[in-house]
Amino acid sequence: MTDDSQAPLILITGGSRGIGAATARLAAAQGYDVAITYVSDESAALAVVADVEAAGRRALAVRADSADPGQIDGLFAAIDREFGRIDVLVNNAGVLAQQSRLEDLSFDRMQRIFAVNAIGPILFAQHAIRRMSHRYGGRGGSVINVSSASARLGSPNEYVDYAASKGALETFTTGFAREVAAEGIRVNCVRPGHIYTDMHASGGEPGRVDRVKESIPMKRGGQPDEVARAILWLAGAEASFITGTFLDVTGGK
Ligand code: NAP
Repeated sequence: MTDDSQAPLILITGGSRGIGAATARLAAAQGYDVAITYVSDESAALAVVADVEAAGRRALAVRADSADPGQIDGLFAAIDREFGRIDVLVNNAGVLAQQSRLEDLSFDRMQRIFAVNAIGPILFAQHAIRRMSHRYGGRGGSVINVSSASARLGSPNEYVDYAASKGALETFTTGFAREVAAEGIRVNCVRPGHIYTDMHASGGEPGRVDRVKESIPMKRGGQPDEVARAILWLAGAEASFITGTFLDVTGGK
């Protein structure tokens, strides 16, 4: 049973660090209860939980690999138990790997990147539909997929597999949005550009944003909070007639 007097619940995958953590903290400030997933950095996840609770909202952090359907099932069972509702899903968790030429990408790496970045969001969407859709007695909801400008640019010489996985996520956004538009669920996509987070270190170049910033029309990288604001605007009532759209947060690139 859900209670309409409760705060809305936002689930953010990969909410322990970077853009996801910024979205979690801003969501709490805007009045959401917050559930986040993470895979490895428990202390970062617990710090986000502490900040959400300090803002007066309820928080839940669950270790759930976006590439593991069983762990995702367990996460949603915990959400049903703890909150009994879900209003917003942010498919934010994403991975890339060492900058490489196309011919050097391993099969295992490509499988992992597609599993986390493209298939994981589809698994989360399946759970969200069953809880949000009017078809199943839900009250509706909103989903934001976090893609990347790389879906347009292709990331040559760095990680074309990552860029291709984001292309898949974008096509999924379009189909998902159209399939559930009449069932009370809006589905949109944010495309960050070069944002100051730890992600670039996992590609082997922690200082990447500063290296490329002259190629950005605004001549600077973005902050996680600047992406979080776009995500939460699309999530909320101000975007009530917007579905199936793509919002670039790239400084013009
Ligand atoms: P980040 O700083 O590396 O943080 C990644 C987050 O995702 C962490 O919370 C991490 O958890 C979690 N995560 C990683 N793999 C996961 C998995 N298999 N299952 C569940 N959670 C997982 O990344 P970010 O830069 O904030 O990126 C967030 C999203 O924005 C990604 O989808 C990324 O592709 C996209 N994006 C980022 C940029 C950029 O410049 N930073 C640009 C374009 C798009 P742990 O803390 O446990 O590791």
